[in-house]
Amino acid sequence: MPTAQILTIGDELLSGDTVNTNLAFLGERLRQLGFEVVRALSVRDRIPEIVAAIGEVSVDLCLVSGGLGPTSDDLTAEAVALAAGVPLVRDAASEAAIAAMFAAMGRPMPDINRKQADLPAGCDVLHNPIGTAPGFAVALPRGSYVACMPGVPREMKRMMTEQVEPRLRRRFALPDIPRRIYRLIGRGESAVAVEIEPILAAARARSPGLAAVYLHYRAATPQVLLILEGLAGEGGARATEEELRSFDAPFQAALRSSLYGIGEAELEVRVLDACRLAGLTLATAESCTGGQVAARLTAIAGASDVFQGGVVAYANAVKTAVLGVAEDTLQTHGAVSEPVARAMAEGARRALGADVAVAITGIAGPGGGTPEKPVGTVDFAVADAEGCMHKRVQLWGDRALIQHVAGIVALKLVWD
Ligand code: ATP
Ligand code: MG
Repeated sequence: MPTAQILTIGDELLSGDTVNTNLAFLGERLRQLGFEVVRALSVRDRIPEIVAAIGEVSVDLCLVSGGLGPTSDDLTAEAVALAAGVPLVRDAASEAAIAAMFAAMGRPMPDINRKQADLPAGCDVLHNPIGTAPGFAVALPRGSYVACMPGVPREMKRMMTEQVEPRLRRRFALPDIPRRIYRLIGRGESAVAVEIEPILAAARARSPGLAAVYLHYRAATPQVLLILEGLAGEGGARATEEELRSFDAPFQAALRSSLYGIGEAELEVRVLDACRLAGLTLATAESCTGGQVAARLTAIAGASDVFQGGVVAYANAVKTAVLGVAEDTLQTHGAVSEPVARAMAEGARRALGADVAVAITGIAGPGGGTPEKPVGTVDFAVADAEGCMHKRVQLWGDRALIQHVAGIVALKLVWD
């Protein structure tokens, strides 16, 4: 397995101003490509520190992010040129691309942006379609391959997937690693492990390819992702796509309804797709989640043909005025109750003209709990043409976690 280092550059990463999300992204991509990431480091925008971090490299690949900007503190190109023992030269095509980008924005190009076209001589230029800083890749004399990308996460991600990864596949002759993601809600990691580890152990004993299957748990409360990867085992044996697929049936049998999907697509995407396929529109009525469910749905491009809208009915008066929840019902049962959740869902269907509506009313805390309805009590209802289902769930955590989990549980109930 080829080895890799990730180098993230920028004062802001060390001062705590910026969370190093690029590291997490690159680490995951590299693992998926089949690299062994042996080291990650972050250094300040200082030439000697960058040169030292690159020059010391005893790995096959060094991925770099940050410091490609036009300002005097962006020094990555200069440092890499030093480490490679080559001069910086202005790349005419990059200079023209930067000028074109400014022209498209209708802004004059500041002279300092020309600096972004100064790249190590002989490098492989990585075009940046959504920003001014081009990236570049060079092979250092000592043999390791260095690819530099912008710090801006969305620019880095696009450059990594569209430009760097194809180069890495060619250069390192990387095989495609079969991968399968199982998506779960409603069971903790350990409960999942108890169910599936025996299935996996039995399979591993069966075939040399399956023996090398790598299982990775990713818990993001309330979801658990199970990721199976066909890494190469002894003698290069590797599970095929089809062999990974053979886990679907036993996993489904063991995990039942908590397994809501297999594959890359996230819950909200699946909910929208399922509604679209069934020709149904969707609406939300949210109290304690304050619009988080609507925000999740609208974050997906193309949601508008399914998602009609949502009401954040936080105060009782709004539940009554907008959703038509009877004052009596609120008085008798309280805002967090089955009848109110049902009335909210039915009211949202009517008010927003949707086929399906989901309602969430709960106690996110930290105050407001009672012995009968402690903090974390959440009532959900899903109404459609056939009727209305209700579910009460007891959630744990602080306010933000309860709101977050409630939002995802609501989507899962629509999915079910
Ligand atoms: P440009 O100056 O063209 O925007 P750059 O390559 O110089 O690109 P930086 O100046 O280092 O990038 O960072 C630009 C932005 O990206 C900053 O807002 C910074 O907080 C963010 N950023 C940089 N590195 C990281 C990282 N490792 N993780 C997350 N965000 C980052
Ligand atoms: Mg910077």
